[in-house]
Amino acid sequence: MENKEYYEEYIINNYGIPYVSFNNLKIDVIKDIVEALELVFNRYPRLADSICSLGDCEDINNQYNLFINSNKHKKIVWGEYLEDEHEIMNTVCYNPGLLPFFGKVKIIKGKMFIPNKFIAIAYGNKMLNTSKKELDDMTIKSSSNGFHPPHFNTFKSFVYHELGHVLTFVLELNNDFEFFNNIRKLSNNFKNIDSMISKYANYGEDIYELIAEAFSEYLVSPNTNSLINYIGKQIDKKYETYHNTCIFNVNNKFKNHKIRQKKLQKK
Ligand SMILES: [Zn+2]
Repeated sequence: MENKEYYEEYIINNYGIPYVSFNNLKIDVIKDIVEALELVFNRYPRLADSICSLGDCEDINNQYNLFINSNKHKKIVWGEYLEDEHEIMNTVCYNPGLLPFFGKVKIIKGKMFIPNKFIAIAYGNKMLNTSKKELDDMTIKSSSNGFHPPHFNTFKSFVYHELGHVLTFVLELNNDFEFFNNIRKLSNNFKNIDSMISKYANYGEDIYELIAEAFSEYLVSPNTNSLINYIGKQIDKKYETYHNTCIFNVNNKFKNHKIRQKKLQKK
């Protein structure tokens, strides 16, 4: 019988995510998370290199503080945001102490500039000690009333949604003007987002949720409609363009830091 520790080690060893904790999750929920991650990582292998931590809100908070203090930046506590019980899962991206740059690898004085981001996925309190059946029922209900896309009908779709956020953060899809404009055209100036993607796709002032919702649908039903198909294909195209570049090397610094920590503790 595989237990929680087995799956944590499995993700750490096979995909190189530096910190993984499945504390307080039911074993069948953990299996679903692992299967969903595998499906996406098989398709976008470099994505795994972008994730620094996977855990509950408290875990992620601790990991982030560890990371940020190692960089001698001021401590930013974001526990309140992660405590949000309305969310099943959250993806966070912090780019501490650096000016944002837009989708391209920067070269300064001949040196490749590697992004100093911290990207992590946190599961919310709603998931803790909840059965897979309850989570699946909750998911089916929200897709049938249009809150999520039509094929968003197992709990795994939440994982796909979060990985859509990770892709957005790494590929900086939110800063792609042509992409934005084509979404605008295909959705009749955003009027058809509800019917073509989901109600939740309209959430927020930006297009973050729109992309994540479309991506979760694209993975399970790429031809739901022209808008879903366009967004998914663009993500594939951008992934192809950048997958060999260092923009995916997000958790490298985090790994180095963790190793340094270990060495220091030994002294
Ligand atoms: Zn989201």
